[in-house]
Amino acid sequence: MKALVLCSGGIDSTTCLALAVEQYGAENVLALSVSYGQKHDKEIRSARAVADYYGVPLRELDLAALFAGSSCTLLKGNGGEIPKESYAEQLEKTDGKPVSTYVPFRNGLFLASAASIALSNDCGVIYYGAHSDDAAGNAYPDCSDAFNKAMNDAVFIGSGEQLRIEAPFVGRHKADVVAEGLRLKAPYHLTWSCYEGGDKPCGCCGTCIDRAAAFAANGVADPAL
Ligand SMILES: [Zn+2]
Repeated sequence: MKALVLCSGGIDSTTCLALAVEQYGAENVLALSVSYGQKHDKEIRSARAVADYYGVPLRELDLAALFAGSSCTLLKGNGGEIPKESYAEQLEKTDGKPVSTYVPFRNGLFLASAASIALSNDCGVIYYGAHSDDAAGNAYPDCSDAFNKAMNDAVFIGSGEQLRIEAPFVGRHKADVVAEGLRLKAPYHLTWSCYEGGDKPCGCCGTCIDRAAAFAANGVADPAL
């Protein structure tokens, strides 16, 4: 069987790619990177570098047009500044809504797109790197266990039971993702997580804070720093 892996260039999806390569072999893995109108292309370049590292082909898809009008702060356009604080701090001010860096239904859109590409390329499984730290407090509801179950059901039924979703870290913490990636010797030195597109990670956006905590919990230095 062949596997399609959604690759964003960060540590969660890179670990998924490492898992898929271990499970199916690089010759049976296809990577997919999606542009969505983000403010910089560092993550796309990282996705290319990670796919190259494993010798898997990378498909690139541009879905930026679908987010026209969004006030998401990750996107070029209307959103304004990316918050320089943890997700927990941001969630104190969102009144139960997702954080400002939530891209509208991104994982739903990406998984639906990935399902069409997977079926067109004889893949029977789609991997993506959702985990519970992102879903906590409704920061990114499209990373939750309930969302994943619903999407998996939709993809399985809608594909005539030919395709399923594998989300190996749903319900687990980002520190568990890093632990698994260290076991697999995932090329974290090639990854990019920061929401800003500087020469080095900013260290103070939500994802930089979570990434640092995940490496610290494993007692290792982040090789990308
Ligand atoms: Zn950052």
